[in-house]
Amino acid sequence: MQTHQYEAVIVGAGGAGLMAALYASRGARTAVLSKLYPTRSHTGTAQGGIGAALGNLDEDHPEWHAFDTVKGSDYLADQDAALLLAQDAVSAVIELEHLGLPFDRTPDGRIAQRRFGGHTSNFGGQPVRRACHAADRTGHMILQTLYQQCIKNNVMFFDEYHVVDLIRNGDTVAGVVAVNIDSGELHIFHSKAVLFATGGWGRVWEITSNAHTLTGDGNVITFRRGVPMQDMEFFQFHPTGIYKMGILITEGVRGEGGVLLNDRGERFMERYAPSIKDLASRDVISRAIYLEIQAGRGIKGKRYVHLDVTPETVNRYFAEAGESRRITREDIEAKLPDILDFCRTYLGVDPVREPMPIQPTAHYGMGGIPTDLDGRVILDAQRTPVPGLYAAGECACVSVHGANRLGTNSLTDLIVFGRRAGRHMAEYCQGAQFVPLPSNPAGEVEAELERLRHASGTSKPYQLRAEMQAVMMNHVGVFRTGEGIQTAIDTVRRLKEQYRNNLGIDDRGSRFNTDLLEAWELGCLLDIAEVTAVSALARQESRGGHSREDFPKRDDEHWLVHTLAYGTADDDIRLNHEKKVDMCLAEKDPRFKPKERVY
Ligand SMILES: Cc1cc2nc3c(=O)[nH]c(=O)nc-3n(C[C@H](O)[C@H](O)[C@H](O)COP(=O)(O)OP(=O)(O)OC[C@H]3O[C@@H](n4cnc5c(N)ncnc54)[C@H](O)[C@@H]3O)c2cc1C
Repeated sequence: MQTHQYEAVIVGAGGAGLMAALYASRGARTAVLSKLYPTRSHTGTAQGGIGAALGNLDEDHPEWHAFDTVKGSDYLADQDAALLLAQDAVSAVIELEHLGLPFDRTPDGRIAQRRFGGHTSNFGGQPVRRACHAADRTGHMILQTLYQQCIKNNVMFFDEYHVVDLIRNGDTVAGVVAVNIDSGELHIFHSKAVLFATGGWGRVWEITSNAHTLTGDGNVITFRRGVPMQDMEFFQFHPTGIYKMGILITEGVRGEGGVLLNDRGERFMERYAPSIKDLASRDVISRAIYLEIQAGRGIKGKRYVHLDVTPETVNRYFAEAGESRRITREDIEAKLPDILDFCRTYLGVDPVREPMPIQPTAHYGMGGIPTDLDGRVILDAQRTPVPGLYAAGECACVSVHGANRLGTNSLTDLIVFGRRAGRHMAEYCQGAQFVPLPSNPAGEVEAELERLRHASGTSKPYQLRAEMQAVMMNHVGVFRTGEGIQTAIDTVRRLKEQYRNNLGIDDRGSRFNTDLLEAWELGCLLDIAEVTAVSALARQESRGGHSREDFPKRDDEHWLVHTLAYGTADDDIRLNHEKKVDMCLAEKDPRFKPKERVY
């Protein structure tokens, strides 16, 4: 078994991993391990933009951005983190520009910005242009820019290395174990510090905007090594996924003036969010779509509504609102090229001429591996850090998104907190020694992989996965009830039992054994599904992405707390709700006092 030694090891080559690697490499010998080729990471699909209060087109301020983030989070975001995000966002976007990111421009050469859901002026006033964009390929541009910078900075890349375990020596981190996907061999990476930036886990649900690779590996690897998962009950359903496919139609479409219409042709968001309508927060719109469908107002009585960005419709609503701006087909072609391409290719629908059929799609995990503001993984309500262990990006929970993430704040999170974590890692590595590897550091995971390779039962991974995805979609989706969540828990536990005792895979080989690795990923998905459902059952209130029909109100008296879920020795889950939401109480009153959330 080959052993490599790097001071800093980063697992994941999306925006968070690359930004952290760039900063870590300035003070430590750094390696990035990725199960995908780096520029195929999911950050590359991010379309609409990265949020920063640059104020290039409308007056804007970081404090307004922080307020929108906290309000969007349904007041569960830690306010110190939200303020830091909004303040650092400005320098982060300018840093990306200086690193070479080709943002769209205003006529006078500044970074162009567009409207997005929940972005407002003056603490909840009118929509404000805050999303900085490079057409609808902002994430793609971030990845390319950061990857080139990492290469320039001598970061060492191990592409198509699938990390399967974290090595600890006592309390301290000592490295990771990875499968070289090409050869099938296990490799040990001995390090002083490890950062997980493994992205999301949307594959837990049936309809999702997430790629097949988003299986929550980092969260589960650390969970199995004693780290809790935080706030997993909060999973965001983006309102506009392509009907039945889940492929995302960016909020940027509504930012450009697109509107949601039901079967009667009504702009139904006028009823649910009278002030900012189609630009309300994602959880609010997803619920509205479900309610329209439930009331029989889905298109042709089916489970979808229309998103209309045709110039005729958009300009009619602009005129009705007394706005002077108008859009043309050429504007839409220039600003939303990828969206048009998706719809024409996958649906045979041309959005400049006809509306797009959409339904909510599982999109983003607000919870994750708990960290402090420097990306250090923490263990408990007292914020005890694990020496040498870091997390950033979607797999982490700092917590800046609380119960519901504001559009464009994920890319901001990757850059702002990836940068802080990378910087802290470099400092840590300079003061720390390599701790010795334990004997046989890959032993446990090697045994599990061999069990899976030789599994010859009758339950195929795709069958178990499909059943899990269906039950999670039906019972731990946009709307939830205690009874439904319990059904999901019982089902997932039965599936876990089958996974352990009756799994069957077909490929017993070594090279590119994706059958084996997908089975291993399924184990991660099942663990995450269980933690999500158990956390959701305990939270007896409705907040952000967690909407309980049996507890329809938000309950600030009892639930302004984070959920920490721990794995127990007997494969159960223990919840802890002692970690209070940070309200910036140093300033006596909460910076942003919780109030009813209306848009
Ligand atoms: C379609 C779509 C559009 C979006 N648009 C926007 C937007 O406009 N604005 C916005 O702010 N957010 C947007 N988001 C959300 C945002 O893109 C993601 O939350 C963010 O890019 C996640 O970045 P990340 O660096 O955390 O992870 P990712 O970019 O997902 O990268 C994860 C990395 O981890 C690696 N990895 C995972 N598991 C392992 C393992 N076991 N071993 C080794 N490597 C591993 C992968 O290879 C990959 O390199 C969008 C999301 C989607 C799905």
